[in-house]
Amino acid sequence: MIIYIEKKYLDNSITKKILAKYKSAKVLEIDNHKNIFDKSIAWKRDQNIIIAWANNAILEAPDWYWHKWKWYFLKNSLNCIFDCKYCYLKWAFKNNDLVIFVNYEDIKKQILELVKKREGNETIWFYSSDYSDNLAIDNLTDFTKEFIPFFDSLENVKMEIRTKSVNIWNMLKLNVSKNIEIAFSLNPLEVINKYELKTCSLDARLEAINKLLDTGWQVGVRFLPLLEIDNYQEIYLSFLKYVRVKLDFTKIFSVYIWWLLYTHEDYNKMLKKEPYLDLLYRLEKVDDWFYRESRVVRDFFYKLFWDMIKEQECNICLDK
Ligand code: SF4
Repeated sequence: MIIYIEKKYLDNSITKKILAKYKSAKVLEIDNHKNIFDKSIAWKRDQNIIIAWANNAILEAPDWYWHKWKWYFLKNSLNCIFDCKYCYLKWAFKNNDLVIFVNYEDIKKQILELVKKREGNETIWFYSSDYSDNLAIDNLTDFTKEFIPFFDSLENVKMEIRTKSVNIWNMLKLNVSKNIEIAFSLNPLEVINKYELKTCSLDARLEAINKLLDTGWQVGVRFLPLLEIDNYQEIYLSFLKYVRVKLDFTKIFSVYIWWLLYTHEDYNKMLKKEPYLDLLYRLEKVDDWFYRESRVVRDFFYKLFWDMIKEQECNICLDK
């Protein structure tokens, strides 16, 4: 493993923590992460780590993106230690090196500037973990320790941390914050085993959800992406029955379902990176913009979720 460090962060506390964990890694000083991350083209098993400065860590979510409030993406790290076969990071980036932006104070300043500019006291949401799984690398980055108390100090400014990890131990040491929703992606074991490599098991995720609920955290559930695997009707039905036994949905903060969906351009990039991924060949070209699962498949899932999750409004992303 190589750890690339932008020179000004050689003495940073997160840098030191990472170096202490990977003592045998080769360390290289660099001027700018873009010289490595944007240029090396490889999707390899062994990830390198790049410790860097984020010039602009906040991106506004596009209008067509599913959201009720003002939403922003928090881009504090890039790439993921997990390997979900369908993951959009595969088309978004040229390689799978893990970039960790450690200029936390700048990132917080950028958030505060946006908060200052908002109209009145409107609620703003920040999605963290769209570009990586922040909880999975929390032991390296101290993300929860740094950002949960920060968001907690703001009024009507919320953060969603989405994850397939169960690394909740640092969170459990913090004060519960009503400005945080920790959202767990769930899928049947058959999907996890085949397509969500290295992620935590379904039972471990359910156990983590219950632990966080017991301590008062707001926990969301994301059934995404729903996949047209062989025998999907039976598999998802028994999966939902199981999840309903394990979780009390009256306590769940929000539920969303979503599909596998790629723009044409991204779909073609995915085909190059994952040419044998059967899921890709089951998608339909629905219009000039997107590939997605068929109407029949989507309608099956709608009915199933509406029948099975009665206590909660089940929100649907990007579909009518
Ligand atoms: S956990 Fe999320 S970010 Fe990580 S590989 Fe899977 S889909 Fe991608």
